[in-house]
Amino acid sequence: MRQSFAKRILLIAALALAGTWLAVAVIRAKRAGNGGGKSAISSEALTRHIHYLASDELAGRLAGTAGAEKAAAYIAREFQRYGLSAGGPTPSSLQPFTFIAGIELGATNRLTVANEPLELKQDFMPVSFSLSGDFEGTAVFAGHGISAAGLKYDDYQNLNVKDQFVFVLRYGPEGNNPHGQFQRYHALRYKALTAREKGARAIVFIDDEEQFSKSTLSKLRYDADFADSGIAALSISLPKARERFRLHGLDLDAVKKEIAQSKKPVVRDLPSIQIAFHGELRKVVRATANVVGVLQGHDPNLKSEAIVIGAHYDHIGLGEMGSLAEGRTPQVHNGADDNASGTAGVLELARVLASGQARLSRSVVFAAFSAEEAGLLGSKHYVSAPLVPLDKTVAMINMDMIGRLKDSRVIVGGSGSSPLWKDLLPRLKPEGLELKFQDDGYGPSDHSSFYAKDVPVLFFFTGVHPDYHRPSDDPEKINLAGTRQVLDLVLETAKTLSQQEPRPQFSKAKDSGAPRGRGEFRVYLGTIPDYGEEVQGVKLSGVREGSPAAKAGMKSGDIIVECAGKQIKNVYDYTYVLGDRKPGEVVAVVVLRGQERTTLQVLLEERK
Ligand SMILES: [Zn+2]
Repeated sequence: MRQSFAKRILLIAALALAGTWLAVAVIRAKRAGNGGGKSAISSEALTRHIHYLASDELAGRLAGTAGAEKAAAYIAREFQRYGLSAGGPTPSSLQPFTFIAGIELGATNRLTVANEPLELKQDFMPVSFSLSGDFEGTAVFAGHGISAAGLKYDDYQNLNVKDQFVFVLRYGPEGNNPHGQFQRYHALRYKALTAREKGARAIVFIDDEEQFSKSTLSKLRYDADFADSGIAALSISLPKARERFRLHGLDLDAVKKEIAQSKKPVVRDLPSIQIAFHGELRKVVRATANVVGVLQGHDPNLKSEAIVIGAHYDHIGLGEMGSLAEGRTPQVHNGADDNASGTAGVLELARVLASGQARLSRSVVFAAFSAEEAGLLGSKHYVSAPLVPLDKTVAMINMDMIGRLKDSRVIVGGSGSSPLWKDLLPRLKPEGLELKFQDDGYGPSDHSSFYAKDVPVLFFFTGVHPDYHRPSDDPEKINLAGTRQVLDLVLETAKTLSQQEPRPQFSKAKDSGAPRGRGEFRVYLGTIPDYGEEVQGVKLSGVREGSPAAKAGMKSGDIIVECAGKQIKNVYDYTYVLGDRKPGEVVAVVVLRGQERTTLQVLLEERK
């Protein structure tokens, strides 16, 4: 290469280097201008917020309880202190809504078996997903109530259970073996679906504990789906079942032993046993509220647009629902990381941005959502009544569990929801913080509600840890320096988005063919169920781009009511029916679209 030419190359390289160095210096200086290089986020304030929200006094902030209300009041007071405006139809920053928090027994629940009235809670107990009403019929003993073609095992093979009360044992022929081949057929809802599909009037679970009061069946426990199972469902104590059956010639202990030894179905028709059941279950509706506040932008054109910065403030209380703790003793689940950390983040970002530290062009909505643990209900409520119209909401930033940064790596979900994200964030991140992008805009937290409405989303998450959904998720374990780093990035991102022109473009994340979790079924459709939606069937909050469901024409808002010839009453039915399908099969899925029933042919794919 000629020397003079070489000299010129060197000069250009030196200039380029100087230029980059200058650019980095400018960004750093700008950041320094915004806080002297030091983070604008106050550790002291974060600590104060997390310790209060995760204190035993707030009793785990279960939505609809006094503890959650105290948290909401605290957040509202802070928003007011920072000078945020309520932004809604009322001066209050509370956005109230009601939700189904549980199921409880109605006034009268009665059961007679072979003309003997049984004692509620002592001899029998309705199951939370039972139909309510009056039901009569005769008894059929159907072994474990399992119909597993794949395992060549069918308790219903030689039985006609139409309009009958089907009595079934718990678990399977291998007992309660979590690693056994029958494990997936143990679920009460699965057995209820099977009995219903066979035409039974009611299913009666025979308890396996000698003392009914010790059994989980003697208590009304609700699962994540309040939709009923479309069949009457109750449990009976072992001593009572044993006694009643013996009077009608069936030795329950001998039959159980025979099944356990032969691993073959043993069933019996018991027409002499007349049964009458009156079931009354009530949905418990509770009131709660999101807490929202607005910081007005300054730009006359852009201030009508907004960025939403949000986090859920509720948690699982004493572990009534969703606890991963061993045992069932009620204990305060403090939820320091889940999600006092994200809520503290919303508060600190509101304080810093409201302090005028940066001149915002667009407005910012700060939202603390409730009832996230009950199915993203707060964010779903927000998108149904947004403070700023969703088409003017240029992005939503969600923080759920940002308190346990490990190895300086933060997970950034939703990175496929705008082409801007993977370019912008690496440029804004504080030194030393590593970003792990995950494209999917759907996911188990509040950003999912916005993504389903085509709003670009970012989801910050520092990962699961051994204290997740356990009483041990305490403030002392929060990595404060890590949380500040994450918040520094969110702060810079919010400031940039408030000025960014054009606004971030929305993109549907490429379908990653969601990886298979433990025990999940093999086939893949790409539907996103709308948990917490009270319908008969499974309502979809979205379908993944390019997925089998999308290819078959399924849409957000569709309600699945039938799949592979089986009625679908709730998300459990849907899971179990798909669990029996194989990749490559074409199944007929019937959806309700408005009033219209449409049948779609879906080619099932392999779940990766
Ligand atoms: Zn959470």
